[in-house]
Amino acid sequence: MYAMEPDKIYAHKGLKSNPDAMTRMQRFLDTMERRESDVDWFAPEDAVRVSGELAAWKLDQTVPDGKLRQPIVFTRLVLDGSKAEDDPIVKSPPKDLALHNLPSVLGYIQPFTFHHAPEKDAETGMVCWPSKFLGTVVGCSHGCVYCGTGREGKSLIIPLNVHEYLDKAIRKIADENPWQRCFLMIGFGADMATLEPEYGLYEDLLNLLSEYENRYAYFHSNGDCVDWVENLTHRERLIGVWSLCSNEAAALLEPGAPSASSRIAAMAKLCKWGVPVRVKLKPILPVRNWRESYAKLIEELFHKVKLETFGFTSLIWMTYEHLTGIFDTDLLDPTFVEAARAAQEEMKDSQHGPFPHEKRAELYRFLATEARKHAPKTPFFICTETCEMWDEMSAELGQSPRHFLCGCNPVQGPGPRYLESTVTESNYRTNKESREKAG
Ligand code: SF4
Repeated sequence: MYAMEPDKIYAHKGLKSNPDAMTRMQRFLDTMERRESDVDWFAPEDAVRVSGELAAWKLDQTVPDGKLRQPIVFTRLVLDGSKAEDDPIVKSPPKDLALHNLPSVLGYIQPFTFHHAPEKDAETGMVCWPSKFLGTVVGCSHGCVYCGTGREGKSLIIPLNVHEYLDKAIRKIADENPWQRCFLMIGFGADMATLEPEYGLYEDLLNLLSEYENRYAYFHSNGDCVDWVENLTHRERLIGVWSLCSNEAAALLEPGAPSASSRIAAMAKLCKWGVPVRVKLKPILPVRNWRESYAKLIEELFHKVKLETFGFTSLIWMTYEHLTGIFDTDLLDPTFVEAARAAQEEMKDSQHGPFPHEKRAELYRFLATEARKHAPKTPFFICTETCEMWDEMSAELGQSPRHFLCGCNPVQGPGPRYLESTVTESNYRTNKESREKAG
């Protein structure tokens, strides 16, 4: 797993009576070279103290190695249907104490969340596929600057009653949602692959999916931790999806995460083991020499890895103010910084800021042209972009926006090929109709 050196480790006392959870915890502790006696065990009524300590925790910025230092909380998922808002501990928090994520500390974590419903995508203007995302972990083991759970995160909360989670929650989801063939296991900000093989969640998830015809699981990573894949019992049920930046962009955006080159080396291992690999250049950051930087990355990627699909997403979800707050803009292409500054008003309510449409299109066009030199037949896509961007780019990408092969959609099995489902198209059409209605 990812090298983690948490300042503190907490564990819910309820785990002690669950042998499955204790086995998983012991694996984590062994790898981190910690003992059970290093763990601060808390009873549910003590969770407020834990949550308060997490809120007060601060990253020691003088430690430069980029390893995870945030406290880890091992907890027990609540799977009996009770809700956080009915829990007396959550209902009456102390008024004078700042708390961090008390419900999750107590194990109130949703086993799945529904993303990209057509009506939601129509609001955000994103073209994607509706999908139920699975998840257990809250927080992330990386330290990326663009994400609230990365460098700004205060904890990594890992539920350990995995057998119970799969039996009570995920089996039901698989049974009740035959339309969904491929499940993204992503948690809440988490890069789940970086916690394997100690967590052991994928082994059990894939075993469960193997009981069904044509069901698969994705991991979505910006790490290089893949050795656990080789000996999975059902690795034929796994699909690997990566977010990738050029080495120069990653140094600014993802300090502490592995370099692009080591992620590519990890992808090459998956190819060797016959596990499909799909890559999104995401988030694309226009550093000063972005053309050279990304051209080099693309050349290395296609030289070493056979991809099923290849996609692009600019840096999005951001305002100009946020951009200038987290980056030294002197390190970025000045034409992009100026375009973002000039477009502040236009982009202020957009999910696709800070760069306006024309500048994002400039990125995509260059990258697609560059990648085509190496991959004449690979399906290209833009990820969570607008209808307008699809209208402009679909010829260059070689795909239709209503039926595009991409990275982590719910119906695209290995091959890549669409699997039989009642979901047969992306949200492009409904987005477009809603834009036209709004005039
Ligand atoms: S890869 Fe496809 S399904 Fe996954 S987020 Fe992007 S557009 Fe949506």
